Amino acid sequence: MTSSIDTTRGGLARRAASTLTSAGRSATESATTSLARRGLTSARALGAGAAEIATHTAGSPNLRDGAFGNLDHGASQVDADFSVVVDMARRPGRPRRPVPVLTPDFGDTVADLRVTWLGHASVLVEIDGMRVLTDPVLSRRCSPSQIVGPARMHPAPVTVAQLPPVDVVLISHDHYDHLDLATVVELAVTQPAARFVAPLGVGAHLAAWGVAPDRIESADWWDSVTVNGADGRSLTFTCCPARHFSGRSLSRNLTLWASWVVAGAERRLFFSGDTGFSEHFAEVGDRLGPVDASLMAVGAYDRAWPDVHVTPEEAVAVHQMITGDRESVLLPIHWGTFNLARHPWAEPITRLLPAAAATETPVVVPPPGGTIDLTDRTGPGLAHPLWWESSA
Ligand SMILES: [Zn+2]
Repeated sequence: MTSSIDTTRGGLARRAASTLTSAGRSATESATTSLARRGLTSARALGAGAAEIATHTAGSPNLRDGAFGNLDHGASQVDADFSVVVDMARRPGRPRRPVPVLTPDFGDTVADLRVTWLGHASVLVEIDGMRVLTDPVLSRRCSPSQIVGPARMHPAPVTVAQLPPVDVVLISHDHYDHLDLATVVELAVTQPAARFVAPLGVGAHLAAWGVAPDRIESADWWDSVTVNGADGRSLTFTCCPARHFSGRSLSRNLTLWASWVVAGAERRLFFSGDTGFSEHFAEVGDRLGPVDASLMAVGAYDRAWPDVHVTPEEAVAVHQMITGDRESVLLPIHWGTFNLARHPWAEPITRLLPAAAATETPVVVPPPGGTIDLTDRTGPGLAHPLWWESSA
């Protein structure tokens, strides 16, 4: 999700959308498309329209009346009322002091299992000799506009141009804090060899922004995509259910949301995307686990949207469901960078650590830009293990 301010706008937008006739809705969409064609960035950031997305999702067994839904009972709801707006206006989720940011040194070698947290859900993963970049958002705001919307609470550790060669850009869903127009467009240009792997329908946005269709791999839940690298290497990406929702404009749930299991010859990694708690993660663990590490969303939870984002304690439980009995490291993501809920800035970590300790779950918490080798748990990202305490 983008923010509770946007959520509230989303709530108004949803109510507005439900009163739009289908003719009105298609008029809105064609207006958006024509604004996008004229190059208006904020309109273009909305992504592909419903008709275009439908050509990418047609035939999915997970579509109900043209939209995707969760496997869990009940819809994931955001019940943001005026009190959420008032609470958010007090900016409870901001750090008191500046957040330290490291400048990563990616080096020339690609490790067996190493991660560099680039803030929020953006992680540069090295796995079995290939590089995967998750949900890259390096812009100042996660919003259709760079004038309004949630702004970063720390600078991005790198620019797109400073990234090393990436084999795969892996997307979890189409919300603004996970799929950013400017970052995607720049990646498409600066990383000509990179392939984009995304849940069904998200490819329509990528294609609308100029990513060549033959560089886009799409997957429905439980589908796998294999991407070959140099020297006979390959990674298999399996698209797994998550409990969330999607949408960049008035239309909701036209594109799929997902978690992913990334499997190389030796190592396996789970990327949660955005999710509420779901018993279906036990099936992910049974079918695709155990994994060596998880990139687990731990922030932006709120009592107004309990099914949309896990709490830190639920994040540990999901990690346990995926990893089974293998000793596996949890890397917390989706916290610290954008202020999207009412919890204090560092609370995702101060709640995560005792929950993880209670189940003897290893956790590593790098600062933005911090690199950690997960095989031997070393690296500059561990130089100051309690670094967040001086910012909270
Ligand atoms: Zn989301």
